[in-house]
Amino acid sequence: MEKIIKTILSELANVNKLVLLDLDDTLVEAAEIFIYKTLPNGEEIALTPAEYADENVSGEENLDVTYDYRDFLNPKKVSGSIKKGQPIVSNLEMMDELLKKGYDIGILTARGMEDVIYSTLREWLMIRDKNGELVPIGDNLRRENVIAVNDSKYTELEKYTDYQKKSIMINELLDKYDEVIFVDDDNKNIKEIHKLKQALNKAKANKLFIMKAK
Ligand SMILES: [Mg+2]
Repeated sequence: MEKIIKTILSELANVNKLVLLDLDDTLVEAAEIFIYKTLPNGEEIALTPAEYADENVSGEENLDVTYDYRDFLNPKKVSGSIKKGQPIVSNLEMMDELLKKGYDIGILTARGMEDVIYSTLREWLMIRDKNGELVPIGDNLRRENVIAVNDSKYTELEKYTDYQKKSIMINELLDKYDEVIFVDDDNKNIKEIHKLKQALNKAKANKLFIMKAK
């Protein structure tokens, strides 16, 4: 009997749930950070992350344009883009509700500079405490759950597209978690993660939920 209770308790303790949120245009409309597109005639255009998301970056018809991500390698710009950005309250509230229901909070972004993003989000992401006061998320956001797939430390991911990088990370998280809710504003990302779900074995696929950000 004692053994059974122990088993049940350990199983309950192991029910780990994660809500995995995209950053740009899901939690924040970033400010003062751009992707620089160079046209075939040499003209450079600054695109916001939202505008960049609408570009057909991997499409073959775009081989004659280039993109420069220099702002995203500048720690001050990276941090400022979040701190000065516009919080997307509906998704932040959903994140807070799930945190209160016992979910871990994770971030999955195509950005790099993972350390900068983590330390910025610890202060910038707000949750409501027991008294309803807004406080920084702090230790409720764990370092290992902030994933910026274009960080230079992920050398083994370099050969993959952003979608593939995200899929690989989600696949790994599904080994650690009993449930993962993926939340993203970008239909292309949603579509790719649906493809991932279809390719997973049934047990894993059943743990993955995909949600469009509001
Ligand atoms: Mg996004």
